[in-house]
Amino acid sequence: MSNAQTIAAIATAYGESGIGIVRMSGPESLDIFLGLFRSPAGKTMSRSEAEPRRMHYGFIRNPETGETLDEVLCVYMKAPRSYTAEDLIEIQCHGSLVSLRNILAACFRLGAAPAAPGEFTKRAFLNGRIDLAQAEAVIDLIQARSDKSFDVAMGQVEGTLSMRVARLRDALKELLILLTVNMDYPDEDIEEITYGQIEKSLMQINDECLKLLEFSQEGRMIREGFSVTIVGKPNVGKSSLLNFFLRENRAIVTEIPGTTRDTIEEQVSLNGIPVKLTDTAGIRESEDVVERLGIQRSKEAFNKADLLLFLVDSSQPLSDEDRELCRLLDDRRCIVLLNKSDLPRVLAEQEMSALLPKSVVLSTSLTEGIGLDRLEETITEWITGGKVRRKDDVLVTNVRHIELLRRTREEIEEALSMTRRQEAMDFIEVNTRAAFDLLGEITGQTAGDEILEEIFSRFCLGK
Ligand code: GDP
Repeated sequence: MSNAQTIAAIATAYGESGIGIVRMSGPESLDIFLGLFRSPAGKTMSRSEAEPRRMHYGFIRNPETGETLDEVLCVYMKAPRSYTAEDLIEIQCHGSLVSLRNILAACFRLGAAPAAPGEFTKRAFLNGRIDLAQAEAVIDLIQARSDKSFDVAMGQVEGTLSMRVARLRDALKELLILLTVNMDYPDEDIEEITYGQIEKSLMQINDECLKLLEFSQEGRMIREGFSVTIVGKPNVGKSSLLNFFLRENRAIVTEIPGTTRDTIEEQVSLNGIPVKLTDTAGIRESEDVVERLGIQRSKEAFNKADLLLFLVDSSQPLSDEDRELCRLLDDRRCIVLLNKSDLPRVLAEQEMSALLPKSVVLSTSLTEGIGLDRLEETITEWITGGKVRRKDDVLVTNVRHIELLRRTREEIEEALSMTRRQEAMDFIEVNTRAAFDLLGEITGQTAGDEILEEIFSRFCLGK
């Protein structure tokens, strides 16, 4: 399938850089390019000279005034062997916004249209070069905030998830064919399917779905990040803890300014998982706010977090403030750090466990470095749910995919229980087909326009 319109966009980030790229895709891209390009000797290039997959050195000229816009290196990728599976041109110029904009404007003048966000990838999908799950992984790749998020997204771009989903759909399709044949031609001399056979296939499919969902919590955390909020009264060691994480995890990806003046937020990577740390140091220390507001905001910060790290000073008896924080934590699970364990101990682990029975209590010393490995392990276990993944286990990271897999399982479970009750095959067929369609939404065969629009609008321009 080929889109009639040729599109163009700046594909590199806006700002000063060594080089910048203008990208064009569609049937007119080569002609438009040839209209703009001149060799170092000032000559135009013919179609036959525009050898695909070769760098062409020259200049881009303003098609109206003949003025030189920039010195460039260009590559032509002939359909279907390109990112979009259409004719595609990439013009590498100097990474100046002036140059990039002028070249883009020149492409528009010769007939290209501005590309919508994600339109190049959308075309790759519409032209069947990649499926929807792969296209979504491209966004994840661009937005990855840790090595692990990048690796997982890369695997999905290469099709690891798509292959598993395709296998599941094949199995469902086979079952659907057998069901339909048995329903439509019950009297013919065809192979009859038994309830036992249906049950066996459905169970296999169900197991496979379960396997895909098994590590989805970790998958989601790897993709979206995990937020940890540090709580504790003044002077228990919250800043020291934040600094420990920042020192230990050198792969700091970005620094985010605190969302309020009372909290500090930092981005770190813990065993490859992007973790956003929030230190609530200021919340309960600000004097100009009424106490209730302090409590309100602490609660808000607590609620936003995937995990709370609650620090207390183990060299002191529990203070009223510690107890109040315990109350604020309600029955939320958290990791309690009995810090300053290098000092003579006054507060026992049992005392804390009794107050917060659902929590994990660890003794640490941030100044002496005691208990910190255990802390990191405990956080990692929290993220992975304690499950250990094999290298070849496929991680589902995208909430949309997770949700669709869950719904697929519900349909299959329903089909299974009907099979066990030996209900009419028409009924079993309905749920089996629904499962088949839901899986197709992951890879895009059955995804409607609205879903596609939603997904591709999240891309940046030029991708
Ligand atoms: P915050 O107010 O909760 O952010 O606490 P800080 O991290 O600023 O620490 C307060 C003080 O306690 C500092 O002087 C730290 O050096 C000290 N401190 C932090 N952790 C420990 C620890 O494990 N043992 C001891 N002895 N002192 C600590």
